[in-house]
Amino acid sequence: MIVFDFRGKVVLVTGSSRGIGAGILSAFAQAGATCVLHFWDDPDGTNRRDAEQLATQLRQLPQQPTIHVFSADVRDAAQVAALMQQIQQTCGGLDILVNNAGILRDRTLKKMTLEEWHAVIQTNLDGVFYCCKFAHDILRDSGRIVNISSIAGLIGVHGQTNYAAAKAGVIGLTRVLAKELARRQITVNAIAPGVIQTAMLGEIKPDVLAEYLKQIPIGRLGQPADIANAVLFLASEESGYITGQVLPVTGGWV
Ligand code: NDP
Repeated sequence: MIVFDFRGKVVLVTGSSRGIGAGILSAFAQAGATCVLHFWDDPDGTNRRDAEQLATQLRQLPQQPTIHVFSADVRDAAQVAALMQQIQQTCGGLDILVNNAGILRDRTLKKMTLEEWHAVIQTNLDGVFYCCKFAHDILRDSGRIVNISSIAGLIGVHGQTNYAAAKAGVIGLTRVLAKELARRQITVNAIAPGVIQTAMLGEIKPDVLAEYLKQIPIGRLGQPADIANAVLFLASEESGYITGQVLPVTGGWV
């Protein structure tokens, strides 16, 4: 059940064609927000098809939300700037930015290639910086930024030097931006998900996954809806006095 009301609000969720991002965007759509469904336009068009399919489903909700489908590679500053201009022209501004797009390229330090290091930093950290920087001019006063970090940014997880560095970087960026944007009543918070059941998990070996499960007191993996519920709270008017915080959503792991 969705308890928050986002009618009249414009929300952008990066990487929302699937996984956690799709769960977050769907929750905002059910709460009546005008949604920007963002995807990365891969060469074979799979992501565009997935994005259009989700948009079609969401438009059929009883709330009949407006869903715009826009693409940008978050690693490319010019594309992110163009995305924000597109949102300004189409929606007249932005109320809520959720930085969700991210990738995983796990490998021990010894085996990690420079390409793997840079790919994760560019997507998971540079991408968040670009989205915040170019959203800044179109974000309305009393707006909200929610960054999807990870418990990897709080505790060390084997094989994740690139991912942990990027996600810890997002936490640092969140704390600074919270201070810079507070005078406009814009709050900036981060969520640190634990292990959430999405396609990203496919890249984790089953024995590693079994080890993760042992450490989750709640006794199950998280679902995208678990993250979406936390995002909606931090994006709501009711959370206006909470800023610069990191909320672990981990089933009790952290
Ligand atoms: P998915 O792989 O299912 O989804 C990732 C999303 O990021 C996709 O929509 C993808 O777009 C988008 N994306 C990737 N690269 C780019 C890019 N260069 N430009 C634009 N979009 C891009 O992962 P999850 O849903 O599991 O993860 C979502 C977020 O949650 C990530 O930031 C992840 O690090 C974080 N997280 C996930 C956890 C988990 O256990 N699943 C745990 C902790 C944090 P497209 O589909 O168009 O390719």
